[in-house]
Amino acid sequence: MYNQFPDIIIDANEFTFCPGPCKHNKYKDNIVKLKNRIIYDFKPNFGGRYNYFEYPINFKDNIYLKFKNLRICRKCYNRYNELWNNKDYLFLEKDAENILKKLYNNDSTVNLVEF
Ligand SMILES: [Zn+2]
Repeated sequence: MYNQFPDIIIDANEFTFCPGPCKHNKYKDNIVKLKNRIIYDFKPNFGGRYNYFEYPINFKDNIYLKFKNLRICRKCYNRYNELWNNKDYLFLEKDAENILKKLYNNDSTVNLVEF
């Protein structure tokens, strides 16, 4: 099917804040050191990055906001999984909208891969 609007794909590799819909845009990756183990505030808690998360901008028309290489706060992580599991697409669309607003307010650090 022809897609009138392309997906928005963002590489979050250089992000210094959580890319999820939460209000925390001054995120510093807080680290706790337990014995030989380093635990991060954001998920994945043991470091590394998720390959990608996707939020529907318009679920019906199959348009997505996609993040590559992200770390995300626990709250946004849990919400993301819960909303997808419950098929709450309207809430996910609302989240996509809030995330885009948040990104535009932090645009100096956003690395847009494709638009
Ligand atoms: Zn968050």
